[in-house]
Amino acid sequence: MKVAFIDLQGTLGGDPLGHVGDFEFYPFSIEAIKLLNQNGILAIVLTNQSRISKGELTMKEYNQKIMHIKDDLKEQGAYFDEVYCCPHSREDKCECKKPLKGMAKTAARDFNINLEESYVIGDMGMTDMLLAKEIGAKGVLVLTGVGVGSLNEFRHTWKDIEPAHVADNVLEAVKWIIDDSK
Ligand SMILES: [Mg+2]
Repeated sequence: MKVAFIDLQGTLGGDPLGHVGDFEFYPFSIEAIKLLNQNGILAIVLTNQSRISKGELTMKEYNQKIMHIKDDLKEQGAYFDEVYCCPHSREDKCECKKPLKGMAKTAARDFNINLEESYVIGDMGMTDMLLAKEIGAKGVLVLTGVGVGSLNEFRHTWKDIEPAHVADNVLEAVKWIIDDSK
């Protein structure tokens, strides 16, 4: 089973460091998810939501927002296979906050995925690309969200890692993955 783990904010839409309540898809993101669906590649979202731990977002608000996002996708003929969320902040010392592997490992169990054949798409080197390295996946950095900054002034925060590919956006990333995984 092939899988693309996809970051939410800054990659599929919204504000990379903002509140998930304000999330809206970038115009090209629906097409990207649709392409994954049509090509038999699991579209699994992994999102860090430390605002939940900090009391700035309730679990209920988060779940409602995700439901709306899924409805939005469905109306346009696309779907996520699953959405995993880490609600913790660093102080909680969890095992799921990206770049830690917890969410990917849970997904691997739930979907019988070989993580070494998976892809991680994200806009932040120090979380998304580091996660890719941790699980032996191929990382695709997108230049939306904090992507450009990640590749420039914040390159030192993930200096030992090379993304397998750098894409303008998630649609380009998905096209590359479909080609690469043939
Ligand atoms: Mg992001």
